[in-house]
Amino acid sequence: MKHLTEYRNIKLVKSLSEKIKALTTHDYRIMEICGGQTHTIMRYGIEEFLPESITLLHGPGCPVCVTATDKIDKAVQISLTENTILTSYGDMLRVPGSGQDLLSAKANGGNVMMVYSPLEAVELAKNNPDKNIVFFAVGFETTAPANAMSVIAAEKYNLDNFYLLSSMVLVPPAIEFLLSDPENEIQAFLAAGHVCTVMGYEEYIPIASKFEAPIVVTGFEPVDILNGILKAVELLESEKYEVANSYSRAVQKEGNEIAKGVINKVFKISDREWRGIGMILGSALDLNDDYKRFDAELKFKFKESAGKKDTVCIAGEILQGRKKPDECPAFGKECKPESPLGAPMVSSEGACSAYYKYHSKNQT
Ligand code: SF4
Repeated sequence: MKHLTEYRNIKLVKSLSEKIKALTTHDYRIMEICGGQTHTIMRYGIEEFLPESITLLHGPGCPVCVTATDKIDKAVQISLTENTILTSYGDMLRVPGSGQDLLSAKANGGNVMMVYSPLEAVELAKNNPDKNIVFFAVGFETTAPANAMSVIAAEKYNLDNFYLLSSMVLVPPAIEFLLSDPENEIQAFLAAGHVCTVMGYEEYIPIASKFEAPIVVTGFEPVDILNGILKAVELLESEKYEVANSYSRAVQKEGNEIAKGVINKVFKISDREWRGIGMILGSALDLNDDYKRFDAELKFKFKESAGKKDTVCIAGEILQGRKKPDECPAFGKECKPESPLGAPMVSSEGACSAYYKYHSKNQT
């Protein structure tokens, strides 16, 4: 606890704030990738400690928010299949698909079960050999090792009734996608510390150099975020387009070799549609040929998705840093946590839910 309060220390926060203000001589637009960091920024009012010349943009690092409607539709169809249980984290249950969400599917007879880890789903498969158990694997690189371990466990137990519906996505291709946009205005990124704990940050080095955008590995407490912003401003001011590690207490350049080994054993890199953003090449993890017998998309037959797009919801623009949640006309009116129109209002990591929870404008 003492360790935690150290990273929320108001004296340290003010001192970092002064350093950032003293150093900043230009307007800068800095994007934090991770939804967890967005919540810290809103919860602690971090923007109030920054000069007006720094704009923080909220990125696509909310895995629930970027899960395509097509995947939700497949999860719904699986849940409605005879002798099948669809297991999922709770955050996914209320994310709209092109038809019903998983919670409605459950109310309409679908077999949906909330779990806290993929290994719970493996246990369920062991204990219910007459049922197919599917785990909806949503997440960034942080969740991939546990997902891989679940497949390895299913193999070890010779399970022929356990499957993954993979919607796992990767951060570096998303950063590259955003920076490749001809209208891009993002000048620097705060990379998510927990992702880099697993993967390291070597992949970011060529991206920072190619697009002349510093990337700073950053943690999740107020002092971490301000340290990350200070480092990003230092690099921008000195025109150094490189990667810096401001979260060295948890992150090493090469990441966690054991976790990366498990990921590489089970998964391959593929392309993925990101909700509201579009197709990002090389941005996904799917089961490789050695483990494709556990792939739910090969096991089940699916009706074509209605392909209905979000209408009112501008989540795609928010996830790309073009707009802030309170610029959405539906924010706090038709769209609230109890009646969400889009995934960023559903997810505990979504920017819209962070704004609603902590931002004064939600009182409209
Ligand atoms: S406030 Fe609601 S409708 Fe607007 S972008 Fe966020 S989730 Fe979508």
